[in-house]
Amino acid sequence: MMRTSCELAIIGGGPAGMAAAALAATLGVDTIVLDEQRAPGGQIYRAIETVQARRTDDLRILGEEYAEGAALAASFRASGAAYEPDSTVWQALEDGRIGVSCGGVAHMVSAQRILFATGAMERPVPIPGWTLPGVMGAGAAQTLLKASGMVPNVPVVIIGTGPLIYLIAVQFARAGVPIAAVLVTAPEIGMTDALKVLPGVLRAGRSLLKGLAWRSELRSVGVQMVHGVSQPMVEGSSRAEAVCYTQGGLQHRLEAGLVLLHNGVIPNTQLSLGVRCKQTWDAGQHCWRPLTDDWGATNHARIAVAGDGAGILGARAAANLGRLAALDTAVRLGKLDLARRDRMAIEDRVELAQQHALRAVLDKLFPPAADLLAPVGADDIVCRCEEITVAELQDAVAQGCTDANRVKAFTRCGMGPCQGRMCGAAAAEVIARALGQTADQPGQFRVRLPVRPVPVAELARLQS
Ligand SMILES: Cc1cc2nc3c(=O)[nH]c(=O)nc-3n(C[C@H](O)[C@H](O)[C@H](O)COP(=O)(O)OP(=O)(O)OC[C@H]3O[C@@H](n4cnc5c(N)ncnc54)[C@H](O)[C@@H]3O)c2cc1C
Repeated sequence: MMRTSCELAIIGGGPAGMAAAALAATLGVDTIVLDEQRAPGGQIYRAIETVQARRTDDLRILGEEYAEGAALAASFRASGAAYEPDSTVWQALEDGRIGVSCGGVAHMVSAQRILFATGAMERPVPIPGWTLPGVMGAGAAQTLLKASGMVPNVPVVIIGTGPLIYLIAVQFARAGVPIAAVLVTAPEIGMTDALKVLPGVLRAGRSLLKGLAWRSELRSVGVQMVHGVSQPMVEGSSRAEAVCYTQGGLQHRLEAGLVLLHNGVIPNTQLSLGVRCKQTWDAGQHCWRPLTDDWGATNHARIAVAGDGAGILGARAAANLGRLAALDTAVRLGKLDLARRDRMAIEDRVELAQQHALRAVLDKLFPPAADLLAPVGADDIVCRCEEITVAELQDAVAQGCTDANRVKAFTRCGMGPCQGRMCGAAAAEVIARALGQTADQPGQFRVRLPVRPVPVAELARLQS
């Protein structure tokens, strides 16, 4: 039976949520972690306990960074924090009430403080052909590998940019997946690029070496990597058959059984938007994120955000931010004094500064690919749920809709089951381009609760 109240409710059991819960519980804060996954780990360490116990061959495939999650999961399990897996949060309110669905039963949990540790999501890549069967996010394909050891057995083409693209390609190559090519929109990173970001490179050295090692591993097993790719599109009548792209001024076509798309990750802001946490535009990462102070606190007294949900910084920083939010919560609940909080925060702040340096380098080396941010063809789909095309959005703009929410009201773009998660960023991009604005100017779609679909029958039987 799910508990109905607690001092701290943490939504998300990834590095941020696990680290926050482990420390908060140790400080005597009555803590519950709600997570829709079956086991702790979040995106990066998904299924780490099962893989470590029963799928040890997959540890070699997923790499040493993945294996590092085992210690964090163990300390979380040992901390005494209550844990509710398989629990999807569909709303969180400013007064601390949380709507959560678990095993087909809806519950309300009341918390004195809520920490959103909901992580990141892949930035949707709405290129022509992205809605065809046989096209998916590269991170989604990696999720299948981590969760259940499932890998494709048809030639795979990976398209996009960002450090994750190389990691995922390496993991697939180790798992024996036939990789037809990795098509990278960023140019090949050479010495000149590294020199441009030299101070950051020196501080972030170890992680960058790892990135270079992934690339040479791919080369050593003969994976074709093409850099400087533009205008990619997926061809196929009823499913993906081939990828067409431009490189070096020439058109190319490559047959593919499965196409994996990736244009970096962005904060998962559905819950923080749903409760109207103030958001800010992050020009470096080209995305919105909730506005937080140094401890993860938002404009709402009861609500904090930590980890990639507050801005993309990676798994280690997520754990640092989770611990800082836990320390601040302990102060607010009267379990810790300010001086001790600040002393206990020192190590995390030092590590966090290193992670900021690494991220600054990664943001410079891997900016999101403009070609992958929004479709350009009039008939290309932007909103998959409501099947709204570029032309329909442009038409709404031509009729005088100058912000994202007005376009949403006119077209139904963003009103489907995903609540704009998949189309919000691309729609804003299309609107901004039509108006000659930057992507932040049209604003964001407002989020309506529930943020996840929940059956009416469940709500009718709500356990409070
Ligand atoms: C698909 C994907 C794959 C990634 N793979 C890697 C990788 O291999 N290596 C790497 O370095 N980085 C990876 N990243 C980036 C990585 O997610 C982060 O750096 C790191 O995991 C952030 O930790 P976090 O605790 O902030 O969030 P996460 O690890 O994302 O944890 C968030 C948790 O919140 C849960 N959650 C979200 N919304 C709800 C809700 N409404 N109700 C209940 N639970 C909810 C999620 O299920 C998840 O378990 C990946 C990102 C994505 C999107």
